[in-house]
Amino acid sequence: MLEHDVIIIGGGLAGCRAALEIKKQNHSLDVGLVAKTHPIRSHSVAAQGGIAASLQNVDPEDDWKAHAFDTVKGSDYLADQDAVEYLTKEAPEVIIELEHLGVLFSRLEDGRIAQRAFGGHSHKRTCYAADKTGHAMLHELVNNLRRNKVKVYEEWYVLQLILEDTKPSQPLLSRENIPNEENVIKEAKGVVMFNIADGRLEVVRAKAVMFATGGYGRVFNTTSNDYASTGDGLGMCAAAGLPLEDMEFVQFHPTGLFPVGVLISEAVRGEGAYLRNSDGERFMQRYAPNQMELAPRDITSRAIVLEIRAGRGIHPDGSAGGAYVHLDLTHMGKEKIMSRVPFCWEEAHRLVGVDAVYQPMPVRPTAHYCMGGIPVNTDGRVRQNVTQLTEGFFAAGECACVSVHGGNRLGSNSLLECVVYGRRVGRAIANYVINRKMPDIDEKKYLQQAQKRINSLLCQEGNLRINSLRQDFQDTMTEHCGVFRLGEVMKEGIKKIQQLKAKYSQIFLEEKDTHWNPELIEALELQNIMIVGEIILTSALQRQESRGAHSREDYPTRDDKNFLQHTLASYSRDSVKVDYMPVVITMFEPKERKY
Ligand SMILES: Cc1cc2nc3c(=O)[nH]c(=O)nc-3n(C[C@H](O)[C@H](O)[C@H](O)COP(=O)(O)OP(=O)(O)OC[C@H]3O[C@@H](n4cnc5c(N)ncnc54)[C@H](O)[C@@H]3O)c2cc1C
Repeated sequence: MLEHDVIIIGGGLAGCRAALEIKKQNHSLDVGLVAKTHPIRSHSVAAQGGIAASLQNVDPEDDWKAHAFDTVKGSDYLADQDAVEYLTKEAPEVIIELEHLGVLFSRLEDGRIAQRAFGGHSHKRTCYAADKTGHAMLHELVNNLRRNKVKVYEEWYVLQLILEDTKPSQPLLSRENIPNEENVIKEAKGVVMFNIADGRLEVVRAKAVMFATGGYGRVFNTTSNDYASTGDGLGMCAAAGLPLEDMEFVQFHPTGLFPVGVLISEAVRGEGAYLRNSDGERFMQRYAPNQMELAPRDITSRAIVLEIRAGRGIHPDGSAGGAYVHLDLTHMGKEKIMSRVPFCWEEAHRLVGVDAVYQPMPVRPTAHYCMGGIPVNTDGRVRQNVTQLTEGFFAAGECACVSVHGGNRLGSNSLLECVVYGRRVGRAIANYVINRKMPDIDEKKYLQQAQKRINSLLCQEGNLRINSLRQDFQDTMTEHCGVFRLGEVMKEGIKKIQQLKAKYSQIFLEEKDTHWNPELIEALELQNIMIVGEIILTSALQRQESRGAHSREDYPTRDDKNFLQHTLASYSRDSVKVDYMPVVITMFEPKERKY
């Protein structure tokens, strides 16, 4: 059995930042980091537009409080304000740290870090490296992993979280652990993982397990996310019996390139691009007259869908009634486009043959970001229910819900969350493991279970290809739980996904090998996609109000009386049970949200 003091699952920004912090706090700790891709290919590398922090380089009026207010207002008041306070207060410091690590941010004339406008932010506070910010950050962090002797397991697929019930022998450390009747605490002891190259199975045990497994864009049929964003960490937690928080809040980014769904960064609008309908009109004046194209994403995505529904979308021949709108950069000029957003220009050129210097880009909303996730406190400790924390289990980054984004995330706050909470959770883990002993694990039992799971997939004698089942599932999610939602439509969606789940046993894998078998990995990922999708739909059906990205046509207003609460959804094979948890309000009382 492999063992480390700490095992981190996820080589994106959150996982790498946490690993470095643990080593910085205590270099003698033995840290392992697992990724199913090469860490450098984690979705973080694709982040474009930037990372928010009130550095005041461009706007001296900015400060952390203004950033916190924008974040809470953007969240439609569902964010936990203690968590937002850490996020925004620590932001300038983590940016300077990144710069000292070697991250090459774009500069102002005087050499200070440049900052641009972003949707929902009242000041110019987004730091960037052209439109390749994630790339610049992740490369430096991964380089530093090796320098700091973090053991990296790349291209290992984690199949299972080892979580067992325990009765704590020593008094619980956290005041949040109010004992319940049985006083049963769930304890994470390690993971089971599968080597994608040679099919080896291993159990890893650790004094602390951390999930930084990223998002679930692939639950939907059109997404800006990479193929690996299949919600594995979320699926594994739910399967192990842990609840997931606020899963109904799915961010649809307004400007996915039509028809592929690939992201055209908000930075393009931050630098001055316009959204236009088939009449050539800048339609955002109807929906957000002050912020226009820089309204938050939930509002802008809804505006685009409403324009398309009203027949003001555009067809490829330029006529009205089509399925997309235009993102127009043509007034910005070649020099600005090529220096500030060169990658977006290149994407549109390469993927749909549009030269954005002279022609508008075709765009429509695309599934982009997961506001909900594994419920954690501000030290990244995972909750097992409303009042209790698990032992030995931490999470950060997009897979976690701390919750700094509430019902809707502001652009450039996610990279920030990864580094602020990656660092915080790294510190918490370094402290936590000092007095903890290595857990005992029945290695044989877990290996046998995993082997059985893989063998039965390889031997399944169905006639259904993974691709077709996955496509049906993704289409169902998009159709029944998209930008706008309706109770009856969601109920029907839940029925459909139950039927699709039942078809999983009819999947047939053409490739029977365990060495380099992408089909096998896709089959495992599909299990997670299905669990996560069902939780999203059920949580969305239960929330009978409209808040942030969750927009119900049958309940069009926000209902603070009944729903100013976080959803905690627990999964079992036959059903999803929904519970609620209070929101932390320390600074800003909920108000109507206008832009
Ligand atoms: C195209 C795009 C552009 C974006 N631009 C911005 C931006 O400009 N600003 C901003 O703030 N945010 C942006 N975001 C959001 C932001 O990039 C992500 O939320 C953030 O990078 C997520 O980082 P992470 O560390 O949580 O996860 P990821 O970077 O997604 O990494 C997840 C890691 O987990 C590993 N993993 C997952 N499952 C398993 C498993 N079963 N076994 C082993 N390993 C596993 C993966 O291999 C990977 O290493 C963008 C997102 C996209 C998709």
